[in-house]
Amino acid sequence: GDYNQKIDYVFKVVLIGDSAVGKTQLLARFARNEFSLDSKATIGVEFQTKTLIIDNKIIKAQIWDTAGQERYRAVTSAYYRGAVGAMLVYDMTKRQSFDHMVKWLEELRGHADQNIVIMLIGNKCDLGSLRAVPMEDAEELAQRENLFFMETSALESTNVETCFLTILTEIYRIH
Ligand code: GDP
Ligand code: MG
Repeated sequence: GDYNQKIDYVFKVVLIGDSAVGKTQLLARFARNEFSLDSKATIGVEFQTKTLIIDNKIIKAQIWDTAGQERYRAVTSAYYRGAVGAMLVYDMTKRQSFDHMVKWLEELRGHADQNIVIMLIGNKCDLGSLRAVPMEDAEELAQRENLFFMETSALESTNVETCFLTILTEIYRIH
């Protein structure tokens, strides 16, 4: 039969954060996952989808990636429209990308739904010797702003599946 008829939920999740923190690579890593039932690998599209099963429900995750629009206020409100989740990504070797999380959070909260689920992600944890953001700083921000938090490596595939599954499971739980 038509697989699409069986989809229980479609959840839009947006990736935001400074340029070069690894947003596109995180999405590429997630979208290629072997548990994927439906994924598009097309380069240059606004979003990629991946279908997964949570609590016996078929969930289609629609993950949006900025296409070089990371300049302040260049991300349009259409990007945030309908988003039920957001991944706020910084590069743990670039302090500035973490300091900018406050600005991204402000922009996100200005555009997105009140109950959006947000995950703070410190990417490039494979470069541990170059760490510029202590884990405690990120944990403190996450606690203060009510965000989930994880460190990932798109390169080594560390926590990538886990962070997407965590945010999607929480989104499912509250919808
Ligand atoms: P974006 O601008 O946020 O989409 O960043 P990209 O995904 O294009 O990644 C920017 C650069 O960082 C590229 O050279 C990637 O290969 C590199 N990169 C992305 N993720 C990782 C990671 O987890 N570890 C390392 N070492 N490099 C990464
Ligand atoms: Mg990119």
